[in-house]
Amino acid sequence: MSPNTAAAASPAAAAQAQAQAEDWLVDAALAPLADGSLAPLYAGAAAGELTLPFCAACGLALELEQRACDGCGATDIRWRPVERAGSVHAVTLVHRREPGLVRVTEPYPVLDIELASGHRLIMTTLTATGSAPAIGRPVTIGFRHVGGVAVPAASLDPAGADDSPATSGTTPVPGTTPAPDPSAAGLPAAAHTSSEPEVSP
Ligand SMILES: [Zn+2]
Repeated sequence: MSPNTAAAASPAAAAQAQAQAEDWLVDAALAPLADGSLAPLYAGAAAGELTLPFCAACGLALELEQRACDGCGATDIRWRPVERAGSVHAVTLVHRREPGLVRVTEPYPVLDIELASGHRLIMTTLTATGSAPAIGRPVTIGFRHVGGVAVPAASLDPAGADDSPATSGTTPVPGTTPAPDPSAAGLPAAAHTSSEPEVSP
């Protein structure tokens, strides 16, 4: 069957069709909670923007769940859209079979992306691939849709990295499912660098 079936209509229609399509990697049951602590990320993603946290005091890029700035100790966090560009910092090829939740039966890559904004973010690829992209490879950030929630995903195709908030893919952890590490499902997660773990307010 032609893989181009959905690409015929207008870009907007195609994007919508893709947004409603099933994710290549995980079942809709694994959709992340769009109104949880990462609400600004998901709200931005729904609009086709990559929105990430910064220290409101000194501007340092913060990890997704970080509560206090490593640089100045401030706890005021500001989320704002960043450039959707980065490069592959590290790759894990995940061998996982979980029928009903994970759609693929072949290994899939989970990428640690170093973004131009200074953030590091865990995600999978925009479209299915069974191989690990090279370290250092430039990527652009697009969006998969899991159960109607847009999640960041790395596009390895320079020409396909456009703004289409089209594809979906990420895997949140539902309450009733054995909770896998979200990052192992290609969901947004901070790539822990040298920062300390989150500090309780
Ligand atoms: Zn700061």
